[in-house]
Amino acid sequence: MKLVLATRNKGKVAEIKKILEDLPEVELLSLRDFPDLAPIEETGKTFQENAILKAKTVANSTGCWALADDSGLVVEALNGAPGVYSARYAGKNATDTSNNQKLLKALEKVPWEKRRAAFVCVMALCSPKGKCYTCEGRFEGIISFEPKGNAGFGYDPVFYVPEYDKTVAELTPEIKNMISHRAQALKKIKPLLIQIIRSSESNPLE
Ligand code: IMP
Repeated sequence: MKLVLATRNKGKVAEIKKILEDLPEVELLSLRDFPDLAPIEETGKTFQENAILKAKTVANSTGCWALADDSGLVVEALNGAPGVYSARYAGKNATDTSNNQKLLKALEKVPWEKRRAAFVCVMALCSPKGKCYTCEGRFEGIISFEPKGNAGFGYDPVFYVPEYDKTVAELTPEIKNMISHRAQALKKIKPLLIQIIRSSESNPLE
């Protein structure tokens, strides 16, 4: 079974390969193998809409099963913001630093016990015939008062994980990849993939 990962991000491809490495029936490809495909605009209002949009588009244009993720940060005290707008929270030309500054400013007067947040990841698995499945992974934490650590990306320096007494930017990539929202969503999608491989032996493009 050919499975196209709807990303050009090498880090994500490596992370997904590692989790699916014991499924030799799955041949993993990514958008790097389809350089002519146009970029997909993320116009959805939820992580689920965006993940399905990406996986459906890639499945349609490649004729293979496709796996896409959409993720972001959800902050309780901000009614779920920045959510699907996480990458561009501080505006069109936002950087990780400007996004983190805007977030810390928005939470300036919010006490520690009300700074709960989660990284959320929705994975969508779609067939070229239009069948779609989704799974969600959540990684819970607290938004700290100041950035700490240099690893990772995005909101990692301000996302404090009580179990480790560290921000995500202070964790090793190995630990982050074990507990992250993406890892949790992927682990949930794996049994689905196994089912699909079994049923697709008789009907490969279902
Ligand atoms: P994407 O859907 O994986 O591209 O993520 C969208 C945005 O959410 C990123 O640009 C980051 O701002 C934020 N984000 C998603 N995952 C993480 C993470 O693991 N650490 C920090 N920020 C993240």
